[in-house]
Amino acid sequence: AHKFGMVIDLDKCTGCGSCMVACMQENNVPFKEDESNKLVSITWMRVYQLSNGKPFPDTEICYLPRPCQHCAGQHEGHSPCVSVCPATATDYDSHTGIVSQIYTRCFGCRYCMGACPYHARHFNWWDPVWPSGLEKSLNPDVSNRMRGIVEKCSFCFHRYQRAMERAHAEGRRTIDEHDYQTSCTLACPAGAITFGDLNNTEHDVYKLAKPDLATGRPHNPNAFRLLEELGTNTKVYYISSREWVRKA
Ligand code: SF4
Repeated sequence: AHKFGMVIDLDKCTGCGSCMVACMQENNVPFKEDESNKLVSITWMRVYQLSNGKPFPDTEICYLPRPCQHCAGQHEGHSPCVSVCPATATDYDSHTGIVSQIYTRCFGCRYCMGACPYHARHFNWWDPVWPSGLEKSLNPDVSNRMRGIVEKCSFCFHRYQRAMERAHAEGRRTIDEHDYQTSCTLACPAGAITFGDLNNTEHDVYKLAKPDLATGRPHNPNAFRLLEELGTNTKVYYISSREWVRKA
């Protein structure tokens, strides 16, 4: 089985937000005239700013992009959000390690939002509306979401499906590393995001994070996962050579 994951190099990220824009465009995420209320705005990929808290001239800033961490949980498939969903609207795919969201099953109870330690889920307070003309740019491979349901990053799962269909049409049973890449990975101008199969020792994500194939813990001393102590066993790894970033 695959175990798709991501490595984000925080020493390279400049906080430009290209990943956020690419993600919204790829996944038909609508925006509102007033996006200042972050509690109700929707961004599957969100860039946070961290600071070492020191006064000038010792101030250092770091930007931290945060997609869904696609937690495997302590026992494969026991992600925090999957465990609490009463409608089985969110599911762990054991073939890819991707945590999916099935919009037509979701009835908006938002237990998953409460369970997610990474604030990676967003509730849709409105039916989506696009300014005239922009509806032509919608991605036909991605369902639009209606008011009253929860949504989140899917690691661009439709791109995986497309890559598999193309491989089958060409008589292949497997896909290569570059056949399936998320939109944020391709959009990052700094090359800070790497995506691939953490189970494949040939893939760049494996070489960068060097995860233990049994526990997922990174062997690269500069690599870490968010809130590792919770046992969420996430598939998004971060790399930084700066100690204060790793501690923050
Ligand atoms: Fe679920 Fe949140 Fe983990 Fe994503 S980051 S798998 S939404 S608990």
